[in-house]
Amino acid sequence: MKKDQTFERIDSLFDIQLLAPVRVLFAGCGSGGGSVALQLVMSGIRNFTLLDRDILGAENVIRHVCGRSFIGKKKVDALTEILQDRNPNIDVKKIEADIMNFSDIESEICGSDVVVLATDNEPSRYKINEICVKNEIPFVVGRVFTRGIGGEVFSYRPDSGGCLACLESFLQRTSYREGIREIDLVSEEEREKIYGMEISEIKDSPGLAVDISFITSFHTRFVLDAIARRLKDRPKYLNLIDENYLVWGNRPVHPFKKHFQLQRFNLDRQESCALCSERNVADV
Ligand SMILES: [Zn+2]
Repeated sequence: MKKDQTFERIDSLFDIQLLAPVRVLFAGCGSGGGSVALQLVMSGIRNFTLLDRDILGAENVIRHVCGRSFIGKKKVDALTEILQDRNPNIDVKKIEADIMNFSDIESEICGSDVVVLATDNEPSRYKINEICVKNEIPFVVGRVFTRGIGGEVFSYRPDSGGCLACLESFLQRTSYREGIREIDLVSEEEREKIYGMEISEIKDSPGLAVDISFITSFHTRFVLDAIARRLKDRPKYLNLIDENYLVWGNRPVHPFKKHFQLQRFNLDRQESCALCSERNVADV
């Protein structure tokens, strides 16, 4: 029988056998989650849990890894086909459910090595954050800012650093936060000053696939970092990343000053964070 050549070009550099037992849970299989999943299957990840309740629509295909032939299919089914096309020897658990109403979410998270948090709303992000902090499961969240002007990636590391709620209180104190807040939270006066556009116009211009691809690349790289931190033997290519939070600017639009602007932060646990302060007490 012919030897499987799927990973021949990266195996000597990357030791993908070390990744064999790793399971990654995807909370959200949209354009962000789908791109990260595709990058991970091409990096040798073999066990996927895909969680999403949506159907792929015609409006999705200009940004999603799944094209026109998948319109009308469940995103979890469509993405599974895309992943199996790259490596047929993978295990995919598909869960068609809404994160906010899925009763087994905690046990699914606890059965995973890392969570890719790629939903498009705050309640689901904070729900996953809370479960992961409680159970000390790492997650990486990626978000593209309104109009694709840039985005952010944050990695929750149970051993060190803060959580998503810590990040929010940290951001309140930084100057560049203005301009990248959810547009719904910006007052009408501010919106006119910053954007000069109506809310509907802003919401309808979420950025090109190429704008999103910068963020999903950082997102993928931080997921591999989170995996590397849990492995006893780490693939030699995977040097650990020092920072746990990146902000990327695609173009010189407020609050960014130039194309391809990168800011790096190391976010510690914040005393004001209810979740992490509970943990600090429990740790003592
Ligand atoms: Zn926290």
